[in-house]
Amino acid sequence: MDLITQAPRGTQDVLPEDSHKWQYIEKTAISIAQDFGFREIRTPVFEHTNLFQRSVGETTDVVQKEMYTFEDKGGRSITLRPEGTAGAARAVLEHGLLNGVLPVKVSYVTSCYRYEKSQKGRYREFHQFGVECFGASAPQADAETISLAMLILKSLGLENVKLHINSIGCPTCRARYHEALRAYFEQHTGELCGTCLGRLERNPMRILDCKSPVCHEIAAKAPVMLEYLCDDCAAHFDAVKACLDAAEIAYELDTHIVRGLDYYTRTVFELVAENGLVVAGGGRYDGLVEELGGARVPGLGFAMGLERLLMVMEENGCDLPDAPTCDVYLAPMGDAAARACFALATQLRDGGVSVETDVVGRSLKAQMKYADKLGARYTIVVGDNELETGVAKLKDMKTGETEEISLEDGLYTTLYQKSLDRELAEVANLFSSVAE
Ligand code: ATP
Ligand code: MG
Repeated sequence: MDLITQAPRGTQDVLPEDSHKWQYIEKTAISIAQDFGFREIRTPVFEHTNLFQRSVGETTDVVQKEMYTFEDKGGRSITLRPEGTAGAARAVLEHGLLNGVLPVKVSYVTSCYRYEKSQKGRYREFHQFGVECFGASAPQADAETISLAMLILKSLGLENVKLHINSIGCPTCRARYHEALRAYFEQHTGELCGTCLGRLERNPMRILDCKSPVCHEIAAKAPVMLEYLCDDCAAHFDAVKACLDAAEIAYELDTHIVRGLDYYTRTVFELVAENGLVVAGGGRYDGLVEELGGARVPGLGFAMGLERLLMVMEENGCDLPDAPTCDVYLAPMGDAAARACFALATQLRDGGVSVETDVVGRSLKAQMKYADKLGARYTIVVGDNELETGVAKLKDMKTGETEEISLEDGLYTTLYQKSLDRELAEVANLFSSVAE
């Protein structure tokens, strides 16, 4: 079979007709996070395999089944990042950021790689927007992180996403819980999948996150962590809920959330869209930095699946920006005009106007058709006559109106003024619709 012209299973291309939607979502998320004090961090697409083994956890599905791991030409074991937290934690540790002013707040947009069964909303290469906050132990930090995720979704037009929260405690209270879980699952050893049998001794909580339908059903009736929280963890969770209540952020307790990564402690949460897709997940990970060899620095964060987010936005009819179009198309007739249009285009672009002109050698008729397809706001036809007089017609492609303009001076100012007028009109529109 000829695979050269097929993207690998579980991957997707973002085509030019859609890329502006991605840019819009990413820009919105990054800028709102910035308002909360998160600054962007960029880390490598691949890391040493043991970083993920240590942080995500040896007994998780991600590490046991889903990682893209290979040996590089120097014999090192390398893994394509399956998530963003480990790399961010590694980077802030490596660069000593945790020795400076705390908290350290970072955000990122990254591609992630997991060898999963590809299906709707589940890919092998997918993208996340995420934030991590290191050095904040107070329950307000949990509430703040959650409110950031909610605000991003709200700003994108998703008001009906449900917030599910749970607490999975700390290693102290978890020891008792593990015993209870082991006792429960031992009654079902005949039914559990092979992977979960192995987890029973090492990390019984992982069974709660298994995707096998049988394990899933057994897990549904397992003891819940909330009943085993130690006093500190219970008080922390109560305080988080009190903060959410104070800010009128609605939530549902969901005792089944354990999250698929081992580093989580205490608060965990998921944001669930109307169609049941989990668009974001996160929580606290107070032991992660220490696990990676750093000091005992608490942390927390979340990651949003951007493919799922866009899918849900489109399903819900959320506003997405129109594809960008060009301000003006310059249509030359003849060689001399083509040179003049090129010079004009250069000058206008230098001033920030978006301009296209003929680079194919089309007839005038074909050029006008093309300008229409581009969605050009204005067109200017330039022929020998226009070159001689220095005056041309500016045609408004929406209204069909034309007006004479000078090609020699004032063209830039005219176009600039027009785009300014349009923007002002849009802002005025916006205000009047808000006022209504
Ligand atoms: P799920 O339970 O759906 O497998 P997860 O718990 O593995 O999700 P996280 O590791 O918390 O997911 O990642 C955060 C977010 O990234 C998820 O809420 C989801 O929106 C998105 N995500 C995770 N895995 C995929 C995937 N394979 N394809 C697309 N998006 C994904
Ligand atoms: Mg998963």
